[in-house]
Amino acid sequence: MIPAAFEYARASSVEEASKLLSKFGEDAKVLAGGHSLIPLMRLRLAQPAALVDINGIKELDHIKEDGQKLRIGALTRHVTIHNSPVVKEKLPLLAEIASEVGDNQVRNMGTMGGVIAHADAAGDYPTLALILDAEIVTNKRTIPARDFFKDLFTTALGPDEVVTEVVFPVANGPHKYVKFRRRLFDWAIVGVAAQKMNGGWRIGLTNVGPTPVRAKAVEEALHQGAKPEEAAQHASDGLDPAGDLRASPEYKKHLARVLTKRAINQAEGRQ
Ligand SMILES: Cc1cc2nc3c(=O)[nH]c(=O)nc-3n(C[C@H](O)[C@H](O)[C@H](O)COP(=O)(O)OP(=O)(O)OC[C@H]3O[C@@H](n4cnc5c(N)ncnc54)[C@H](O)[C@@H]3O)c2cc1C
Repeated sequence: MIPAAFEYARASSVEEASKLLSKFGEDAKVLAGGHSLIPLMRLRLAQPAALVDINGIKELDHIKEDGQKLRIGALTRHVTIHNSPVVKEKLPLLAEIASEVGDNQVRNMGTMGGVIAHADAAGDYPTLALILDAEIVTNKRTIPARDFFKDLFTTALGPDEVVTEVVFPVANGPHKYVKFRRRLFDWAIVGVAAQKMNGGWRIGLTNVGPTPVRAKAVEEALHQGAKPEEAAQHASDGLDPAGDLRASPEYKKHLARVLTKRAINQAEGRQ
């Protein structure tokens, strides 16, 4: 299908992008990799009046070590994150997740900032950002991930706000992302991230609600000494996932429990 008509402008700096967004008004959208926005426009589920293309803003494409933090520029592509020796060393779970986003085409074009700003319930980076207490940096402020994801496809971003970086803590202990899907390149039906850091576990769930979920009851059970299979039974505590074509609510809750056990076991080198 062909998208509805829209205006187009290419920004060469973040300031210019923000000014263009203000000029075009609330119906303008940032264009990054285009791998979520363009399909929605072609289906006319999104009809932005204007697109502000940020692909020419080179300073948004970076991976920087900053003490115990890793700063990932908003325009950094999934493939760059996956191949980065720094990410592999300092936050290997992020490299692992990047390697499993979509297919080669998606990974060559899609960006960190795009996934975060799009806030799809099945997006993989938001779960990691939430459990690691990452920060979303914009041209105006820094937003903790726990305050950023408000609802399905809804974030704390204002109309002329541009994500510039996502800042993760360094974490290179035991880790695993288990993504359950029917075909290799599909989005997660349910995903589970497990990361050990500072002596405790951080556990997060993808696609079991409108926003990513931190499985605090599982973390607490592990902290109290429960075995992974016991702790994982708490993964569905408080969940009320929507059913969809691929899974009923009950099946998603079942997956949350099974995959949580699997993620913790695999992180610790067991099958
Ligand atoms: C076949 C297919 C499979 C996929 N599988 C997965 C998957 O398994 N896991 C997964 O996580 N994702 C998956 N994706 C989505 C993919 O990762 C997209 O790249 C991503 O959702 C959006 O990133 P983008 O750079 O393409 O953003 P765009 O499509 O350009 O933009 C998406 C939204 O974010 C906004 N935006 C983008 N960048 C910024 C910014 N810097 N500041 C403010 N707003 C911004 C845009 O205005 C738009 O509303 C898949 C996509 C496809 C087509």
